[in-house]
Amino acid sequence: MFPNPIRRAAELAGRRPNVVGVLGTLLATGVLAVSLLTLIAARETAIRHAHETSRNVAAVLSSNISRTVESSDQSLQTLMAELDKPAVLQMNAEVRHELLFSHTAASRYVTGMGVTDRRGQLLDGCCSDTHHWDFSDRDYFRVHRESAKVGLYISAIYRARSRAGVEAMALSRRLDNPDGSFKGVVLVAIDVAYFRHLLDGLDVGPRGITAIVRTDGTLVARNPYLPPGFAPNFSKSPNFPRMVNEESGFFTARASTDGVLRLYTFRRVPGTPLIAVVAPALGDVLASWKTLSWIVGVSASALSIAFCAVVWLLAFALRDRALAEDRLRALSRTDALTGLHNRRALDEVLESEWDRLQRNDSCLSVLFVDADHFKQYNDKHGHAEGDKALKHLAACITQCVRRRGDCAARYGGEEFLIVLPDTNAANALLIAESIRQTLEDSWHAQHEAGTAGVHPFTVSIGCATGRRMHPSTLDELTKAADLALYEAKRAGRNRVGSAGADMQAEATQGA
Ligand code: GH3
Ligand code: MG
Ligand code: MG
Repeated sequence: MFPNPIRRAAELAGRRPNVVGVLGTLLATGVLAVSLLTLIAARETAIRHAHETSRNVAAVLSSNISRTVESSDQSLQTLMAELDKPAVLQMNAEVRHELLFSHTAASRYVTGMGVTDRRGQLLDGCCSDTHHWDFSDRDYFRVHRESAKVGLYISAIYRARSRAGVEAMALSRRLDNPDGSFKGVVLVAIDVAYFRHLLDGLDVGPRGITAIVRTDGTLVARNPYLPPGFAPNFSKSPNFPRMVNEESGFFTARASTDGVLRLYTFRRVPGTPLIAVVAPALGDVLASWKTLSWIVGVSASALSIAFCAVVWLLAFALRDRALAEDRLRALSRTDALTGLHNRRALDEVLESEWDRLQRNDSCLSVLFVDADHFKQYNDKHGHAEGDKALKHLAACITQCVRRRGDCAARYGGEEFLIVLPDTNAANALLIAESIRQTLEDSWHAQHEAGTAGVHPFTVSIGCATGRRMHPSTLDELTKAADLALYEAKRAGRNRVGSAGADMQAEATQGA
């Protein structure tokens, strides 16, 4: 039905169902492991991709802020240069105000620009209704007053005294007298809304955040917006020292405000105390990966389980088939009545033992066993009792023929043939006699009492022993045993006879 290799593989699988099942299970586990490793790699790729995107967004954010800081500083330096010119100082106050501050009003997020004296009083400025402001309490004023080496200073966030207290941040520089003493400060105030506007344009997922943080940990701006009271102070974060000391970096942390796990990427805005932070939520980053994981995980697991089940079912089906074939093979070689080998099995054994005999110096004995007067036995007790007697005879034969390699078979009717490899004539006679005796003894034991009408059940046995080339054919050997049997019959039955003198001599020579 199947080509030979497939048939042999199926037979092998039938003999080793566990090996096939385990191999199939290992294969399925391997497929699952590969799926798992692929999913782990895909997860890492998703996180790496999110990190790269965040890094790009932080870089764009940082360069935008940097450009604004540079242009504001440029304005401050221009203002300082103008203030140093005697011609400008001698101008009419209104004309000078127009010259120094007219361009500032055009900038959307510059809420003010001004110059203070050494006590912090606003000397001149723009974008407010009155010029009488005292800035001596501001951090930038104190910093410049204390040190001449600060250069450009970016202040903390404060509420502007003009413009209804909007939040602002000042960029300032110190003004010096010719002798180096403190003369005042020039400043540009930038509306914090500028930073919020920068962040508004960035989309980092539904639960992601972007933020601009000062190195003291205070929040400058955040998207989504947090009311001032809820703004977190980053200085308490365990990763904050890294953010302050490194130019850029990446870490994963759970936000204290909402408990969401986020992938934080930060980048310091060069030359400023500002840090751009981009933090998509891990859940958003892995959303599509999770969907893929479910699909791959469920289908790979289902397929693997189904594969395992099919392999095990197949393995056990093949095993059952192999067992059934074994049983059939055994049945086809067994005699149904006695349970001994049948004629077909006998022929195979005889052929193979004869061939083996021709290859070595051993001997091979054959016993022909025939029930005596069995026709009469049947006639007296009926066929059913006759069958029982034949079964009993088979049991006696099995009891006496025990060696591995010996073969007892029903030759036909009430005749049996026993093949005894590596057994010389003397031992063959002994075995034959033991069969005859066992039957006789057991029969007497069974029918001892009240057996007047019972027909005796005995056997006659003919023995023949051959060696390599003696006799020349297997047929001759069995015929010799048959002849010996008839001799035993002729001599009165219930006895053992052995082959002719010539063969006997040859056989005993080899014993
Ligand atoms: P001998 O001692 O010369 O062998 O006499 P015999 O009666 O045994 O020999 P014969 O060949 O004349 O008869 C054999 C008988 O064995 C005939 C047959 O009814 C009987 N027999 C053969 N096979 C079976 C069987 O399977 N069951 C039963 N009950 N009897 C069988
Ligand atoms: Mg017979
Ligand atoms: Mg007979």
